[in-house]
Amino acid sequence: MKQSQLFTKTQKQAPKDEVSLNAQLLLRAGFIDKEMAGVYSFLPLGLRTLNKIIEIIREEINAIGGQEILLTALQNPKIWKITGRWDDEVLDVWFKTKIKTGGEVGLGTTHEEPLVNLIKKHINSYKDLPKYVYQFQTKFRNEKRAKSGIMRLREFIMKDLYSFHANQEDLEVYYKKAQEAYLKIFNRLGLGDKTYMTYASGGTFSQYSHEFQTITSSGEDLIYVCDKCHIAVNKEIIKDLNHQCPECGNAKLHEEKAVEVGNIFKLMDKFSRALDLKYKDKEGKSKSVIMGCYGIGPQRVMGTITEIYNDNKGIIWPEAVAPFNVHLISLGKDEEAQKIYDDLLKNSIETLYDDRNVRAGEKFADSDLIGIPYRVVISGKSIDAGGVEFKKRNEIKSKIIPIKSLISKIKQS
Ligand SMILES: [Zn+2]
Repeated sequence: MKQSQLFTKTQKQAPKDEVSLNAQLLLRAGFIDKEMAGVYSFLPLGLRTLNKIIEIIREEINAIGGQEILLTALQNPKIWKITGRWDDEVLDVWFKTKIKTGGEVGLGTTHEEPLVNLIKKHINSYKDLPKYVYQFQTKFRNEKRAKSGIMRLREFIMKDLYSFHANQEDLEVYYKKAQEAYLKIFNRLGLGDKTYMTYASGGTFSQYSHEFQTITSSGEDLIYVCDKCHIAVNKEIIKDLNHQCPECGNAKLHEEKAVEVGNIFKLMDKFSRALDLKYKDKEGKSKSVIMGCYGIGPQRVMGTITEIYNDNKGIIWPEAVAPFNVHLISLGKDEEAQKIYDDLLKNSIETLYDDRNVRAGEKFADSDLIGIPYRVVISGKSIDAGGVEFKKRNEIKSKIIPIKSLISKIKQS
């Protein structure tokens, strides 16, 4: 993409009311726009990154058998009244309104109820199980606090996967698979080292649930990390576990600030019982379907990556989620730059080409702020020195490389 065509502009300063680092950087770099507290629009650069995060999650969920659907955001109260979650104090985050022709409607905060209601029409027998169904859906939550930029939103996309099983043993097997898929996802997103599968309370229906917590100084949660097992325990249950690792017994857990980027629960028969989701087993006996649920918030992931990967000049995107792989900058050599740009595109290397007629200093400052992994500068000086200046965003020094070896250099890096 040519930067002269990009409608967004960078800003030197973040708005004064924006306290979180992720929103400050993403607003300044033109990735997002603030509609109101906890509500942000995604602009071309931001949407490219968000879609890359979503695609990584989608690939890994498909790999464990997930079938993608899209439920509705508008929710019929009827089904939620059955489970008691329409007027529930715990789920007191509804945005509710009235339908003109009568009756109430709510904006979905989560989707167990409508999905179970849907699945009922398709599952009758043990032969129909197991099934795994997921979506990327906009959720709405009327949160009291919304000061963490895109890490705590009132309107956000959620990947929510639900699994349906004939019995608990089958759920356990899939739950393990989902844990592995989640670790793979966070690895691919560039958060592997800092993300811990974290033991959390299982609520009333199972011993533990698991959060996926990423260590960052801006995190709102406290976790207790076991370095031996690369797992952690959350604050709620650390006392119950006597400050010991539930896997190896290690008592030297250390406290870290973290942000919850995903969570998985065994729902067991909580919703299937309430909503009468049953199947017939081999003997023809009617039994409740056993369920699990598995969430990740792509925008929160994006905010977390921004919080972790930055310096005083801007964002430093991991390659897998960067809006582009190469930032090509022309300093008065537009003809040569155009040829390089064409060549990069021919080789399927996603490139933002800064062809604007602005000062070199402004181009470099914008490039650092936007944070694309590789910067390629072509100028009279670089041509005299033998090619283009090549620099990784996380390195200080650039080096000259011949134009003809640029493509192979990027592909190797
Ligand atoms: Zn341990």
